[in-house]
Amino acid sequence: MILALAGGVGGAKLAHGLVRILSPDGLVIAVNTGDDFEHLGLHISPDLDSVMYKLAGLNDTERGWGLADESWHFMEALARLEGETWFNLGDRDLATHVERTRRLAAGETLSHITAALCGALGIEHRIVPMTDSAVHTMVTTEAGTIPFQDYFVRLRCEPVVTGFSFAGAESARPTPAFTAALKSADLSAIVICPSNPYVSIDPILSLADVAAALEGRRVPLVAVSPIIGGGAIKGPAAKMMAELGLQPSAASIASHYGRRLDGLVIDQTDGALAPKIEAMGIPTHVAQTIMKSADDERTLAQEVLTFAASLNVRSK
Ligand code: GDP
Repeated sequence: MILALAGGVGGAKLAHGLVRILSPDGLVIAVNTGDDFEHLGLHISPDLDSVMYKLAGLNDTERGWGLADESWHFMEALARLEGETWFNLGDRDLATHVERTRRLAAGETLSHITAALCGALGIEHRIVPMTDSAVHTMVTTEAGTIPFQDYFVRLRCEPVVTGFSFAGAESARPTPAFTAALKSADLSAIVICPSNPYVSIDPILSLADVAAALEGRRVPLVAVSPIIGGGAIKGPAAKMMAELGLQPSAASIASHYGRRLDGLVIDQTDGALAPKIEAMGIPTHVAQTIMKSADDERTLAQEVLTFAASLNVRSK
């Protein structure tokens, strides 16, 4: 069994590749909920939805987020009422948030709701939230400490970043299905998908029980770099690195995860960085990591699994 840790769109692509190789019993995808937030009275889980829509084949590939075949009448009507319009909610997407919010209000856990929504959309593989508790990613910037969606959407990632924190992570427990996967005797590798390390993966790693389980693991932990040729494919990861005083590169991804990793997959564009990363004590595999098609996703997923299987159970 493989455990994949994922954020939104970048993570969803590799998760989709893994789904095409592994059986529903052979994969658990644990997803960041640090950027969940309450908006217009609705509980919105952007990363869970990105992974869910992608695995259901319902995602919009051109816009890069949300549902395909979307319409925007709700937003138009809200604007006419001079309501809050900084966060776009498509008409079809709205149904997900309304149904999730209704079930949460009725006392269901986010885990249970996620399983139900995925089941209704025909997804057989397990997508599990990292936690059922509230964890909020906060972005520390030169303009003050800002909740993630305010920074990301309302302020379009403009404030200069100085750090991150995850409010509520101290007391939050991983979800039962995530905990079971971490402890499973069938677990053979853990894969960190190519997601933003600061705001998609670190919230997951910030849960004490997750950090402890990873520290004590007996299976390889491999990551795929989301930074290719010194930039991100999408989103603020490279900008964040530069503002934190780091050179945006796959080598900085290696030092960010550091000795927690048993291996890192980097893009062929960055092949020249492999010796430097290997010198940090992290075995490195060079591959074509830009996923533009379902075949790219599957090929990369297979390479990641083969690479992980080639690594010795860690001896650190
Ligand atoms: P978000 O929460 O929707 O922004 O998504 P993630 O955090 O999961 O993904 C954002 C990261 O994914 C960015 O740093 C991108 O560079 C990276 N990414 C997106 N597509 C790809 C891809 O095809 N290959 C690789 N290696 N990284 C990707």
